[in-house]
Amino acid sequence: MPDSFSADEKVLLSPYVTNVDRPIYALGNLPEEVVAVLFAYYSRSTESLRRNLLKLIRDQEVDLDRRLQWIEQDSGALAEAKEKARQFHEKWVVGYGHSSVAEHAVVHLALEEVSILATKIIEDNRLASYTEKSTRYVIFDPRSYYTPARLQESSCREIYERTVTALLSCYHTLMEETIAAVQARWPRQEGKTEAAYKAACRAKSCDILRYLLPAATQTNLGLTINGRALEYMISKLLSHPLEEIQGIGQAVKEEAQKIVPTLIKYAAPSPYRMETEQVMREMAQEFSGTTSPQEDRTVRLVAAPEDAEKRLVAAILYSYGSSSYAQLTDRVSLLSPQERERVIDEYLKGRGPHDPPLRALEDLVYSFEILVDFGAFRDIQRHRMATQHLQEFTADHGYVVPPEVAELGLETHFEASMEQAREAYGMIRRKHPLEAAYVLPLAYRRRVLFTWNLREMFHFVQLRSARQGHASYRSVAQEVYRELERVHPLLARYMRVDLEEYPLGRL
Ligand SMILES: Cc1cc2nc3c(=O)[nH]c(=O)nc-3n(C[C@H](O)[C@H](O)[C@H](O)COP(=O)(O)OP(=O)(O)OC[C@H]3O[C@@H](n4cnc5c(N)ncnc54)[C@H](O)[C@@H]3O)c2cc1C
Repeated sequence: MPDSFSADEKVLLSPYVTNVDRPIYALGNLPEEVVAVLFAYYSRSTESLRRNLLKLIRDQEVDLDRRLQWIEQDSGALAEAKEKARQFHEKWVVGYGHSSVAEHAVVHLALEEVSILATKIIEDNRLASYTEKSTRYVIFDPRSYYTPARLQESSCREIYERTVTALLSCYHTLMEETIAAVQARWPRQEGKTEAAYKAACRAKSCDILRYLLPAATQTNLGLTINGRALEYMISKLLSHPLEEIQGIGQAVKEEAQKIVPTLIKYAAPSPYRMETEQVMREMAQEFSGTTSPQEDRTVRLVAAPEDAEKRLVAAILYSYGSSSYAQLTDRVSLLSPQERERVIDEYLKGRGPHDPPLRALEDLVYSFEILVDFGAFRDIQRHRMATQHLQEFTADHGYVVPPEVAELGLETHFEASMEQAREAYGMIRRKHPLEAAYVLPLAYRRRVLFTWNLREMFHFVQLRSARQGHASYRSVAQEVYRELERVHPLLARYMRVDLEEYPLGRL
């Protein structure tokens, strides 16, 4: 729910945030490492960033006073420099298009009370850093959800509100019951402290119940972005057909202008983007046929490089010799499979536990079509070294039922919630095709095309198959590995993957 601050609190906060009464604000005058800590709190805290900052100030965990005195002393001297910088940027960045200069200016923004649906549209901008409220460690507030302005005036408003509140209240009322059922089903193991066991049971319950959260649920998102990427992001947000996204774009622009006034001054909706989007929707109707029937397959490899081993060997050797690429590929094609394997082995075998593989793996590019619950999509989308093509979030691909739902006897609530959402979605979609997605819970599936280079695939599979991950995206990472093993077994041999099933999750 919106945070409100007393007059004293506002005075304390004002030097560090660009406003004290709106949910989107930029940060300033804070040590960079404190900014990183404040954003990290989003992962585990129900509180706003400003509330956590107040605690830091009051507990005097950071000596902000001295920093502020220093900034105030210098602000007079810097006023002239700031004005000159503005003139420079107007001339070079805006006037002559020397945009890369804008990358040296960085903005930290807190985006609070944004819907989960909106976070995914914001994070579709790859050149930025994000930290989001965790669905595993934070129990979401059932009163905090978004209602699109277009629905406020619509006959669909009642069904929208009824469905979203029913989903959130089911999530909330089942929480205690689920924690108790998890504890009964998986008793504490020897060697685990009571506190760690309780935390693990709570996390597991949140992992199970997150499937019920509607996409309208409001969350918090920390964003760090450079001036050039920010200008592009604002333009994309302002051009988006959803009102919530346009509003976020406008608020981000207003707040960021207080930090980098010149660099994003001209960020505006893009007619090219908006008109093309409209035309492409019509063309897709005309050319791409109907939605395919529901598929059960989660991960499908749709494109893989030809002659992958030869290409990789050529890419590996290229930087260490002086042959042209054409000479090298001719030479590599004459090597025996054993010789090629030797090169690949020497290149990859010495990796320490925290070493990413070296760059040559980027020469191999794979595309995967992935059909997963929105909760898992929410996590997988965060991998930025990729090209992602998202289809709209609809009810057309059905929903998943996590195995724990049956195991803990939650099927009746779960299925009823999913059906209620499907029905509401169908009714709202007829009048408001874009806004209808907000009522869908995270259990509903979304189809996405990911194109990854092999280096990022190594990273993704290792991180997302690890035991501590959510079962839903762990299975995607395992499938990606199996697909690679099927087509390029030699390369898969060097990928680090955890193929174990952990019925007890993290307990
Ligand atoms: C168990 C678990 C829990 C998590 N919990 C949360 C959570 O509560 N909240 C949350 O927001 N996220 C959470 N995440 C997501 C996580 O923090 C990452 O954002 C996500 O996995 C993307 O991976 P990545 O950052 O390694 O980068 P990718 O985007 O996959 O990029 C690959 C690599 O490129 C480099 N790279 C990419 N972009 C940059 C950049 N801008 N600057 C420097 N290096 C870069 C890094 O080396 C990175 O590892 C969780 C992940 C796991 C596995």
